Amino acid sequence: MMSTSLDIQGNYPLRELTTFRIGGPARFFAAVSTEEQAREALAFSREVGVPVFVLGGGSNILVSDEGFPGLVILNRIRRREVRLEGGRVSVHAGAGEEWDALVQHCVENNWQGVECLSGIPGTTGAAPVQNIGAYGQNADAVVSEVHALRRENGEPVVFSNPECGFGYRTSFFNTAGAGHYLITSVLFRLTRDGAPDTSYRDLQKYFSESGEVSLARVRKAVLEIRNTKGLLTLEGYDVFQSAGSFFRNPLIPAGQFEELRRKVEDAGGCTAWAWPQPSGEVKVSAACLIQCAGFHRGYRQGRAGLSPRHTLILVNYQDASAGEIIALAREIQERVKERFGVLLRPEVHLVGFSAPDLFL
Ligand SMILES: Cc1cc2nc3c(=O)[nH]c(=O)nc-3n(C[C@H](O)[C@H](O)[C@H](O)COP(=O)(O)OP(=O)(O)OC[C@H]3O[C@@H](n4cnc5c(N)ncnc54)[C@H](O)[C@@H]3O)c2cc1C
Repeated sequence: MMSTSLDIQGNYPLRELTTFRIGGPARFFAAVSTEEQAREALAFSREVGVPVFVLGGGSNILVSDEGFPGLVILNRIRRREVRLEGGRVSVHAGAGEEWDALVQHCVENNWQGVECLSGIPGTTGAAPVQNIGAYGQNADAVVSEVHALRRENGEPVVFSNPECGFGYRTSFFNTAGAGHYLITSVLFRLTRDGAPDTSYRDLQKYFSESGEVSLARVRKAVLEIRNTKGLLTLEGYDVFQSAGSFFRNPLIPAGQFEELRRKVEDAGGCTAWAWPQPSGEVKVSAACLIQCAGFHRGYRQGRAGLSPRHTLILVNYQDASAGEIIALAREIQERVKERFGVLLRPEVHLVGFSAPDLFL
């Protein structure tokens, strides 16, 4: 085995490193705070011949009860470099920087572009992975470059924005490139003193009632709105043990939408639940389908359940196992499919599960 300055630990508990607070141990575990340590950790995994899982804030994963049979690399690489260029500002942030702290810093300096992404848990390095988005903004609008290491050989590689292949909750990093890169930093381009983005319905409503708009006020509004939906993990707010939205909002081909609309309306319907996309498809609210399939907020199945504030959020109420969360997720998936013919796909990454057919 190679000699390393890294502290690589065996049989390391993972549950406290996830927002679900669920899951077994990692066979090997290393926290890295520099690119060099990340390279060493990757070399260790190759030498020992075990798979790697790169962990950020653990806010978009469900770890199996058996844990992960390889090396978990906890990314804590921190840096923040700022360059002001006329009306633009470049922010180069380490992948281990806490995302919301970075957003807060940008808002406090009046750098526009991420204010609506306030309160999203996790790290900066994970932001491009699923192209995080909320309240009308998505990371792809401000990500300029993603810096990463190739896991096979530790070589550095820089991806331009188009090379990241961004889509709705997708990128190259969670599709074709999944499992091949460890992101070390992300370069963002923001607008100095830019006008806040309040185009999203909830924000328009908020500001129609409460006047003047600024980046700081948009951040405050987003945090308040997120809190009403149980979508925060920040201290001082109501926190639920979850990984946020469990399923993605499905995209329905235009030709099938009319039939779905009728079925949803027959089942009681929802307000603002379908959004036509430039592709011609219609994005529909998974929360609405779940609700119309008969699941209500706060629905419980033993120790697992739905959030009392949002039907799309599966919650670990009291030491639920990963198996219990999966059983509930499958029940929801099956009932929505039966009722509406729509297959809900998990947004949450499943870590350390051996069965390939957990979902339909
Ligand atoms: C309460 C709550 C609310 C949420 N709200 C939103 C929301 O509004 N919008 C939204 O888009 N998401 C939301 N999420 C999901 C989640 O916060 C984001 O997906 C976030 O970006 C995950 O960051 P993380 O550091 O916790 O990633 P993790 O959960 O640790 O990892 C997620 C995936 O990214 C990979 N990954 C992480 N870091 C790296 C890296 N450095 N290099 C390579 N791969 C990496 C992991 O391997 C894994 O596959 C929410 C989650 C919770 C719990």
